[in-house]
Amino acid sequence: MALLAKPVVAGVWRGAVRSCCLAVVLGSFLSAARGEAAEPSSRPNILFIFTDDHAPHAIGAYDSKINKTPHIDRLAERGAVFENCFCTNSICAPSRAVVLTGVHSHINGVLDNRQRFDTKQPTFTKLLREAGYETAVIGKWHLKADPVGFDHWEILPGQGDYYNPVFRTPEGTRKYTGYVTDITTNLALEWLDKKRDRDKPFLLMCQHEAPHRNWMPGPRHLNMYDGVDIPEPKTLLDDYSGRGSAARRQAMTLAHHMFDAYDLKISPPAPGNHADARMWDATYGRLNPQQRETWDAAYGAKNEAYRRANLSGRELVRWRYQRYIKDYLRCIASVDDNLGRMLEYLDETGLSANTVVVYSSDQGVFLGDHGWYDKRWMYEESLRMPLVVAWPGVIEPGTRIGQLVQNLDFAPTFLDMGGVDVPELMQGRSLVGLLGDEKPSRWRTSIYYHYHEFPGPHSVARHYGVRTERYKLIYYYQLGEWELFDLQTDPDERTSLYNDPASQPLVAELKDELRRLRHEYQDHTGGTF
Ligand code: CA
Repeated sequence: MALLAKPVVAGVWRGAVRSCCLAVVLGSFLSAARGEAAEPSSRPNILFIFTDDHAPHAIGAYDSKINKTPHIDRLAERGAVFENCFCTNSICAPSRAVVLTGVHSHINGVLDNRQRFDTKQPTFTKLLREAGYETAVIGKWHLKADPVGFDHWEILPGQGDYYNPVFRTPEGTRKYTGYVTDITTNLALEWLDKKRDRDKPFLLMCQHEAPHRNWMPGPRHLNMYDGVDIPEPKTLLDDYSGRGSAARRQAMTLAHHMFDAYDLKISPPAPGNHADARMWDATYGRLNPQQRETWDAAYGAKNEAYRRANLSGRELVRWRYQRYIKDYLRCIASVDDNLGRMLEYLDETGLSANTVVVYSSDQGVFLGDHGWYDKRWMYEESLRMPLVVAWPGVIEPGTRIGQLVQNLDFAPTFLDMGGVDVPELMQGRSLVGLLGDEKPSRWRTSIYYHYHEFPGPHSVARHYGVRTERYKLIYYYQLGEWELFDLQTDPDERTSLYNDPASQPLVAELKDELRRLRHEYQDHTGGTF
């Protein structure tokens, strides 16, 4: 097969292609490609490890102050860290639909977590498969419709379970005993080792449930961080002054919006709290007797100490932060360990030399920042995504990339990596050109964001906005309110400058840019201004 042979692209996409950046890096790639592939010049394998709600500020390579992630950091040392990667819509299913399609939520139809993904639309996985890749997705899927565009799929139904999970396959369901991050990795390694067609390059999407709520650690990590105080974020006790009304109206605070048992593992649930009891039973209730023994031994004494302390007010928020963040980081420790297993397998089999490894997560999340634990906002902590890419022979080890990129760019990037032309209809741009020595002369200087799920869980008002390298303008169109932040002088986004008379020229400039982006991306939802 010719290296850059055009795939047969069906339907409306035929012929509508965008020039790709692969040629920029091809020379260095070809000279370095090694491994088990029969042809050293064949296209690289792609391993995409995608987690759920892993914020960059809980990754060592992004200067985490609260944990260590040695295996993600090892990947970063081998390749590149994108320092400014952002989602287009900070919530699970929409981000996944954007990743697959390379178009914004209002075009792919998954505006929020309630919609079913229309699998008839073009995806990068379908196009890579048509171009000769062997494709698989294992783990979290979260798009309601069965996966299309894969030779193999084994997915968690809905959100999935942390313990003893059920997986869905084309042949029916299978239940496994154990911890979901270990099992997802086992299934991914099994497919790599025994099930794939070795005559083809592969695309493997290994997608973890962790570290999504309700943050249930695996057995090996239940006592990690015991006796340690995790540093608090500066905005843990935020009073939401200095911003519009949306920040005060939400329902995602550590102070008021957590379930004792389901979220905080203080069991049994309080009498009369039927919602907590139901959710606790759906999670802890899945543990077998041996798992329960390990779990109860880890939480029992700590819960007793909590009850005796009888905390309230700020001290209760601080305690909840510690419980939440430790469980969250314990889940990440398992993700990191299992990434290490994958990297070891690639190294041992020689696949590393011809495999692009990408680590990312569907969006960021608040780690007690602003007193919150969810995502959805255009504020930095939930807007940011981790993106670490290792590609031997192409990316100089230890590369840091500062350009503004988005999950919108993932589909074009994967296609470009595979030598497949990017359909014109995709709204993102391949990042391959940013990975080599010769950077593109022009790159975007702003990104567009639109969150759609209101009314909905956590009561975050709908908003859209623009972020540049330095500024962010947000429009809560249901409320008729705006916020403007200077990220250089106010990185925690505590003080909106929107009504500051001195900011009005900047406001006008950013509104023009926002209109331009809405026009470019054809977003007519959410009204005009
Ligand atoms: Ca998510």
